[in-house]
Amino acid sequence: MTMIPYGRQDVSEADIQAVVDVLRSDFLTQGPAVPAFESAVAAHCGVQHAVAVNSATSALHLACLALGVGPGFRVWTSPITFVASANCALYCGAQIDFVDIDPRTYNLSVACLEAKLAQAEKAGCLPHVVIPVHLCGQSCEMARIHELGRQYGFKIIEDASHAIGGTYRSEPIGSCRYSDITVFSFHPVKIITTGEGGMAVTNDSQLAKQMQLLRSHGITRDTGEMTRESDGPWYYQQITLGFNYRMTDLQAALGLSQMKRLNEFIAQRHAIFRRYDEWLSRMPVVLPWQHPDSYSGLHLYVIRLKRNEIRTTHRAVFESMRAAGIGVNLHYIPVYRQPYYEGLGFNAGHCPEAERYYAEAISLPMYPGLTEAEQDRVLNVLDKTLQE
Ligand SMILES: *Cc1c(COP(=O)(O)O)cnc(C)c1O
Repeated sequence: MTMIPYGRQDVSEADIQAVVDVLRSDFLTQGPAVPAFESAVAAHCGVQHAVAVNSATSALHLACLALGVGPGFRVWTSPITFVASANCALYCGAQIDFVDIDPRTYNLSVACLEAKLAQAEKAGCLPHVVIPVHLCGQSCEMARIHELGRQYGFKIIEDASHAIGGTYRSEPIGSCRYSDITVFSFHPVKIITTGEGGMAVTNDSQLAKQMQLLRSHGITRDTGEMTRESDGPWYYQQITLGFNYRMTDLQAALGLSQMKRLNEFIAQRHAIFRRYDEWLSRMPVVLPWQHPDSYSGLHLYVIRLKRNEIRTTHRAVFESMRAAGIGVNLHYIPVYRQPYYEGLGFNAGHCPEAERYYAEAISLPMYPGLTEAEQDRVLNVLDKTLQE
């Protein structure tokens, strides 16, 4: 019996051909495929600038650096996210804190953010940057978060690792209407893939320039940016301390080819979503609630167990389903419950809603290419498991 994973890539013959074409070309990296992929994503998002990098983790790091995050800065994010959304602040020597989640969307709660900001203002420790995470592909309430950013003076990085292809108030996620920078991930379980890869998009040309510089060692070949006259045609200058966070042309070609299939991927995810909703509405689980402002990319389908309506436990459901070949998963362990974060001083109880979520949530398999027969197997196994 093969394991049905919770997520996986969908690679077509055209995708493969696009990568093969790069392999036969002059440039495996720093060639034309990277800017072509950047243009395609920027055009899709309706945003001015796109900077491709080797992962969303790198994009988050560069986004923080471009916004000036460093020692003495405070960054806030959601506890229900992948560790990378918080680690980026620590890479810069900044302090991280977590805002509890909304009980319906599981995104960073705007009510909790407002309350925490009011307290922080009194205590003189307002955040410099807030990183809302669009969990499962559903946008956070960006208009309100943006207003709060204006009021309290913080910058905003959207972690849209789950969310390319979705919309918020009828505009593509990544438009950056309500944020300074938006970050996407192209890991194979995400909506489109480049193997490993990520991108930061922005409407601010200075931020874009800074991220371009930092992704390639802090080196410039633009004489306008140099501190003194060129020594000759070979000349370049390192004007800041950067990294090698570049995306290869092999990755970019795959990404560009996948972008052509984005709408089809999202439509398939919505078809799977509707079928799950229909069948699961009869089971003792909470379905993923959709905010009316949001059209989700549906990276994940997360249910919550109604623990007072079942005899089995959350853990036993995972064990039974994994044993039956269903690769259920849990997105996510509250970040501050990780030993590394506990070492920074965080304790259980910091975000009670996030901890309740963690005790009940299950991600069911969700990816284009999941067949109806496979989906039926997931539903049958879950139904049986919940009756144990
Ligand atoms: C996957 C993911 C990341 C990291 O993406 P990589 O491309 O693997 O570095 C960051 N944030 C969230 C919310 C993610 O799901």
